[in-house]
Amino acid sequence: MPKHFIKLKSEKTICGNCKEEFTGGGYVNHCPHCLWSKHVDEDIPGDRKSTCLGLMKPIKVITGKREKISIKHYCQKCGKEMLNKISPNDNMEEIIKLSTKHDKHGNI
Ligand SMILES: [Zn+2]
Ligand SMILES: [Zn+2]
Repeated sequence: MPKHFIKLKSEKTICGNCKEEFTGGGYVNHCPHCLWSKHVDEDIPGDRKSTCLGLMKPIKVITGKREKISIKHYCQKCGKEMLNKISPNDNMEEIIKLSTKHDKHGNI
């Protein structure tokens, strides 16, 4: 697979869900407080090719190889699902809460 040259720059963002400010950038585009994301990437995390900009709800926590944890986000506007790696700043309580949910769209 060829390497993609994505500039990793920091972006100050206001979360569309909880209205907290956070610094995203690069592959991190979800809010560390409530884990909601914004639909800015189209094919690969960080490409910023999407014009949807819908709010993406965290619906599932997926534990992969070597205990790598990802969050599955679901776009409320267009229905796209995307996987995002968690970052060390993420709210662990929210991640644990989310990991106990099983419904496809995160409803209890
Ligand atoms: Zn938030
Ligand atoms: Zn979308």
